[in-house]
This record gives sequence, C-alpha cells and structure tokens, in this order.
Amino acid sequence: MSSLNLKEIAAGVKRTELTYLREMAKSRDEAQVIRIIPEKRTHVYLILDRTIFHPKGGGQPSDRGTIRSGNFELNVKKALYYQGVVVHWAKIITGEPLIGPVTCEVDWPFRQLVMRRHTAAHLLDHCLALETSRRVETTDSWLDEPCYVGYAGDPPNEDTLRRVEAHANGMVSHGGEVRIDYLTAEQGRALLQAAPNFVRLPELDEIRTVTIRGCAPIPCGGTHVSDIAQIGKISIIRAEPMPNLTFRLHFSV
Ligand SMILES: [Zn+2]
Repeated sequence: MSSLNLKEIAAGVKRTELTYLREMAKSRDEAQVIRIIPEKRTHVYLILDRTIFHPKGGGQPSDRGTIRSGNFELNVKKALYYQGVVVHWAKIITGEPLIGPVTCEVDWPFRQLVMRRHTAAHLLDHCLALETSRRVETTDSWLDEPCYVGYAGDPPNEDTLRRVEAHANGMVSHGGEVRIDYLTAEQGRALLQAAPNFVRLPELDEIRTVTIRGCAPIPCGGTHVSDIAQIGKISIIRAEPMPNLTFRLHFSV
C-alpha cells in the first residue's frame, strides 16, 4: 500500500452500507462507485455506497474478488475499514475505473472457508468453556493461515483438547441454526458481559450478536455460516503456549 493513509482516502465520504453484515450469503451485488483514488497507474483505492466485501478485522481476513462495469474490471486485493467506510484496494485488470454503477463479486470459496472457520471458532469457545468448566476469554484470533483462536490462561492438556474437539464435532453433526440479532448498546452491555470477547468490543451504537443454537450470544461483526452443520469436521491441531499466560488454539475445518 502507498503512503496514502486510510484517513485521507475516506475523508468526507458517507459511511458505507455494510451489506455483508445483513446478507452474509450474498456473493454478488450491484453498487455505486462514489470515490476513486489512483495509485501508480496500476492500482486504485475505491469506495462504494454499499459493499459485500468484508474488510480485514476482528480476526477475519479481507475478502477478495472482482469489481467490474462495462468499462473496466478490477481485482480486489484487500478491503479495509476506516470509521464506517470500507476502502477497497484493487489492481486494474482492464479499462479505467469510473464513478458509477458496478457489479461486485466476492471470491466465494475463500469467503465460505472463512465463514466455516469463523463459526467453528465460536463453537470452540463454547466447548472449551464447558470442557474446562470455566469462563473463557479470547485474546485474538486469525482465520486465514495459520488459523487459530487465542485465549487467556494455560494451554489445556491433550486429553482436554480431544474432549473439546469431540464436543464441537458432536454439535456440528446435530446441526444448529446460527442467528444474527441487533441490539442497542445498552441491551448489549447488559447481555454480553460474559462473552469471551467482551473486553475487545468496539464502541458502537448498535451491537450485532451471533448466537449458535444452544450457546450464549457473542458480539461479532464477522461473517458466519447459517447452520453449524455447514462447518464440517473440526480438527484441533495444537494448543501453542504464548507469552503472558495465553495460548493459541490452532484448528482446521
Ligand atoms: Zn463471529
């Protein structure tokens, strides 16, 4: 990325409508380009009125894909979030990008993998709490490579890891709806104090929660599958001890 910073790129434009939050299964959508900032002839920063590209954040890697119109085609390498605005950083494949209508398409196999991993991460929080009979607190997570969730505390032993894995896979095989709700900030604070990521929550007017059937609601701005059956088999690879009494639970789906 260039010396231009997101603050300058996003200055003065209205907040992006975050279509990916409400319509997570949408891989293709129409939108309007409202700002274009060229970078070295070959790339552009582009802002849309609405987007299906989930930006990098909350442990979730950025969506990739294409944005095209009758006049041009772009390869979206990264979507980044800055104070309510999603900035797409893209390579120009053909033509010259213009303000106006475009068709957006997300790299769906990659997004689906991220959604399965993301939902699995929440399920692992739940099963780890049950199998260790304690509240879990997440420290961070990354859902690209390597794929892990970070937790506070000592790493569980191998026996516990296998029980957590079996518990999660038992739930996946039964299936269960993954529901999205929107709460006011007040409702959210009251309901979510026990959530594994409560301390990491940003200040928002509206809190989006994700609830896997049978689990407590979790505040989250990520994309998830609509039923845990879609996750497939979860494998816990290892628990890696990290500094400051934390560990990373590496897993695959
Ligand atoms: Zn989530």
